[in-house]
Amino acid sequence: MDSPQNVDLHCHSNVSDGMLAPAELVARAHRNGVDVLALTDHDEIGGLLQAADAARGLGMHFVPGVEISVTWAGETIHIVGLRIDPHDATLAEGLRDTRSGRERRGREMAEQLAAVGIPGAFEGALRHVGNPQLISRTHFARFLVEQGVCRDVSEVFQNYLVEGKPGYVPMRWATLPDAVRWILGAGGVAVIAHPGRYHYTPLQFQALYDEFLQLGGSGIEVVTGSHIPEQYREYAEVARHYGFLASRGSDFHAPSESRIDLGRLPQLPAHLTPIWRDWF
Ligand code: AMP
Ligand code: MN
Ligand code: MN
Ligand code: MN
Repeated sequence: MDSPQNVDLHCHSNVSDGMLAPAELVARAHRNGVDVLALTDHDEIGGLLQAADAARGLGMHFVPGVEISVTWAGETIHIVGLRIDPHDATLAEGLRDTRSGRERRGREMAEQLAAVGIPGAFEGALRHVGNPQLISRTHFARFLVEQGVCRDVSEVFQNYLVEGKPGYVPMRWATLPDAVRWILGAGGVAVIAHPGRYHYTPLQFQALYDEFLQLGGSGIEVVTGSHIPEQYREYAEVARHYGFLASRGSDFHAPSESRIDLGRLPQLPAHLTPIWRDWF
C-alpha cells in the first residue's frame, strides 16, 4: 500500500474488555477512516482471525496484536506486541498462563465489594464478560455503573478496584523478559504501552527503558488515547532520546466509554520514526 494515512495500533474487542465483537470493531475503524488497524486484546489472541477476515473483506490492512499484562518493579505495565503470528504455540501458552489467575482474582474482588455492601459483583461482572477466560476490572466497573454505585467507569477507577480501595486484589502478571520473548518469538515487535500511566520515578523509568531495549523491545506509544496532549510531547522526547520507534493507538474499548474513538487522534510528531516505517 501507499504510505498509510491513519494508523491505529491499539484497541480492544469483547474477547477482552472491549464491547464490540472483532468484526464490528474493524467495521467501525474502517468507517472512521483507519487504513491500518491492530487489534490488541489483553492477554488474548482469540479475536485475531475474525478481525483479519473482516478487514480482508473491507480491503483494510490488519495487524495482529496483543497487549500483555506485566508486573515490573511492583507495578502493572502493559507491553503491546504487533505483527505477531496468531498461531505461535509459545505465545499462546504464555498468554494462557497470564490469564489463568483472573477468575480467582474476580471472586476475591467480589468478596471485598460484598464486604462494603455491594453483593453479587462476580455474577454481575460476568454478565458483561464476552470471554470467560478474560474477566477484567473493566467488567466489574461496568457492573458498578449499572448498579448506580458510580456514574461512569472512570469514577469507578477513582474509588474502587485500585490500590487502597475496595475490590483491589494484587496480581503477579507475566515478567518483562517473558512477555518480550513471547512477542519476538512469534515474529512480532514489542512496544511499551501508554507509559504516561505508570507511577515510576525517573530512575525507574530509565531502568525500564534500558531493560526493555536490552531484551529486544523496540517501540513506545507516544500518541495514545491513554495520554493527554502534554504527554504526547513528553514521550516523543523519550522516544527520541532512547531511539524508540513511535506508535500511535486509540486504546479504544467502547463507543459509550472511550474518550477517543478509533483513528481519531493526532498524527505522530514528524521527527519521530513510526513503528510501521518498513511494513509497507
Ligand atoms: P485488568 O487487566 O483486569 O487489571 O483491567 C485493566 C483495565 O482496566 C485496563 O485495560 C483499562 O481498560 C481499565 N482501566 C484501568 N484504569 C482505568 C481508568 N482509570 N479509567 C478507565 N479504565 C481503566
Ligand atoms: Mn482495557
Ligand atoms: Mn493498557
Ligand atoms: Mn489497551
